[in-house]
Amino acid sequence: MIALRAVTKVFGSGPAEVRALCEVDVEVRPGELVAVMGPSGSGKTTLLTIAGTLERASGGTVHIGGRDVAELSKDDLARLRRRSIGYVFQDFNLLAGLTAVENVALPLELDGHGVKAARAAGMEILAELGLADRARHYPDDLSGGERQRVAIARAVVGERQILLADEPTGALDSVNGDAVMRLMRAACKRGVAGMVGTHDAQLAAWADRVIFLRDGRVVDRSEPRTGPESLLGR
Ligand code: ADP
Ligand code: MG
Repeated sequence: MIALRAVTKVFGSGPAEVRALCEVDVEVRPGELVAVMGPSGSGKTTLLTIAGTLERASGGTVHIGGRDVAELSKDDLARLRRRSIGYVFQDFNLLAGLTAVENVALPLELDGHGVKAARAAGMEILAELGLADRARHYPDDLSGGERQRVAIARAVVGERQILLADEPTGALDSVNGDAVMRLMRAACKRGVAGMVGTHDAQLAAWADRVIFLRDGRVVDRSEPRTGPESLLGR
């Protein structure tokens, strides 16, 4: 799970100082998808980047799986990023020369797993997420929504416990955006702690909880149980 306590992030210094985050508390439990919602410049990307240990907080603490990331060695931190955290970016980042299943298996291969075992794990997660029939397609032969769904499969392949997505639906139409959020939710239901940044209330409604950011501060929190899925009675 992810626990951020009183996290502050300051960029620059003196007159150029920017307070991107101020005393932010966020906790995401396994199986839970939390949306971080706010307008452009409110601190969503900064929060996700710090939760993903890609950037250090200026103040406060970040615990991942019960461990204070500030106390991890460089090697331990690299291992945590490689094995435990999956990232989904707006522009998909799939490799054009690899099929969907090869893209999904890549993080495991890079982590030293054999090709066969990695591909098998890739097929398994694609199937779990309803993408088995896309496994042998190359990214160019997939729709934007399908590509983003493959990127989510890649982010949760193996034993990853954390899924972080920054505006993952930004380049998609609303139908594909909903499909991506539905899949994020399905991925989290497998026991992953997920955090998704978005400025879109309709997409945030897919999350189990929403945290509202403004000017780097949490201004509201909700427990929306009335998202699209529950309206459909599912
Ligand atoms: P959002 O993702 O919600 O649009 P960001 O986290 O990108 O917000 O940015 C929050 C604030 O921090 C903004 O004022 C932005 O200009 C500033 N900021 C983000 N990254 C940097 C950086 N590397 N250097 C200086 N300021 C930054
Ligand atoms: Mg952003």
